[in-house]
Amino acid sequence: MSGTTTGLDADVVVVGAGIVGTATARAVQERLGVREVLVLDKEDAPARHQTGRNSGVVHSGIYYAPGSAKARLVKEGITRLAERCADWGVAYDRCGKLIVATSTEELPRLEELARRGRANGVPFDRLPGHRIPEVEPHARGLAALHVRSTAVVDYPGVVHHLAEELVDGGGGVRTGFRVRGIEVRGDTVEVRSDTGAVRARWLVNCAGLHSDRVARMAGARTDVHIVPFRGEYQELAAGAVGLVRALVYPVPDPRWPFLGVHLTRGVDGSVHVGPNAVLALGREHYGDPGDRPDAGDTRELLGDRGLWHLARRYGTTGARELVRSRSRRLLLADVRRLVPEVGPGDLLPAPAGIRAQAMTSAGELLDDFAFASSPRCVHVLNAPSPAATASLAIGDEVARRLGDLVAAP
Ligand SMILES: Cc1cc2nc3c(=O)[nH]c(=O)nc-3n(C[C@H](O)[C@H](O)[C@H](O)COP(=O)(O)OP(=O)(O)OC[C@H]3O[C@@H](n4cnc5c(N)ncnc54)[C@H](O)[C@@H]3O)c2cc1C
Repeated sequence: MSGTTTGLDADVVVVGAGIVGTATARAVQERLGVREVLVLDKEDAPARHQTGRNSGVVHSGIYYAPGSAKARLVKEGITRLAERCADWGVAYDRCGKLIVATSTEELPRLEELARRGRANGVPFDRLPGHRIPEVEPHARGLAALHVRSTAVVDYPGVVHHLAEELVDGGGGVRTGFRVRGIEVRGDTVEVRSDTGAVRARWLVNCAGLHSDRVARMAGARTDVHIVPFRGEYQELAAGAVGLVRALVYPVPDPRWPFLGVHLTRGVDGSVHVGPNAVLALGREHYGDPGDRPDAGDTRELLGDRGLWHLARRYGTTGARELVRSRSRRLLLADVRRLVPEVGPGDLLPAPAGIRAQAMTSAGELLDDFAFASSPRCVHVLNAPSPAATASLAIGDEVARRLGDLVAAP
């Protein structure tokens, strides 16, 4: 395959310059031996959405259903990510994490996590409540799991190096290119934006919050819609950052696909509290001052039958998240269950992120990563957390699927 010799702009175009798109582009170069891979993104730089607005945690793999794509790809992804960050000199700190049960109802759920950890081959130590302060002097609880392999990393730094390698390998990144239409004609895919068109042989869709729309533009038949869940953060004030050494998490509610409000010390030493999970009325409605949700997004969301099924299924938890989002008192109460010394003046607002969570028309939130194919295209339809952790392995998985498509008669 060679783009320039055939009058095409590239052999493969990848829509989306987040960590999944850039990792996939590199994997296509490395695994399929294709040089001319062009990544397109609508923003003025890579990593402007989920990849640049997350907790920066390299998850250990303890949470995921044994045998799932998440469990498998996280395991492969962590090792690769740690090695590559060492090569590149990107900040990567294997700081470890505590998952703390603060009520008796949470103890069986902590046990279930321990079972999953064993099944997924993730080492951890069990701590009775009185030993929690040995790891986190200011944390309190009835019991905890200490997972030493959990790390924090600079994800935008990873994307920067992936993009640099992509260009060195003969590919490119074009920013300011919002994909508005895709047409598959014979053995060519034409990708259109307001500023022009790009032609290639194959397309990979890693468009995160818009991946369902890009899939439909390419003619994919999929039942899946993206539901945007905003994750709001607070930052601990300078006088309080000493209350947390590394990462302190609650025991997650197994009926809800998010991990609960936690405390994370990032690679820059700042400590973030959050994220919650609030339904956002726009896919990029971060809730900054003056930021209004896109009217089309809101209309589409409220008209989605799946959302009403979802509301019935998760109504109580969703409502609680919404109330907590409006109430600093409730947020503080949740944080203080883990670290009681955090005071009302210690929480400062910090930028939010929005999760791209796929939902079926029956209102089921997809738990696992999801991929699909349509003529000449591979689509990443669900890559929420821990997709940043697993990104290098997801890239390989997508390249393998593209290789199968190329090889098919
Ligand atoms: C609050 C929050 C906390 C999280 N914490 C963690 C964590 O600690 N650890 C972890 O492993 N994961 C975490 N995640 C999940 C992780 O951030 C994502 O799984 C990962 O970043 C997904 O990467 P992506 O490349 O698929 O998406 P994105 O980073 O969102 O990239 C998609 C790109 O596609 C572009 N795009 C979209 N539509 C178009 C279009 N039409 N034309 C051109 N370009 C387009 C966008 O501009 C964007 O750059 C978190 C996510 C959130 C929101």
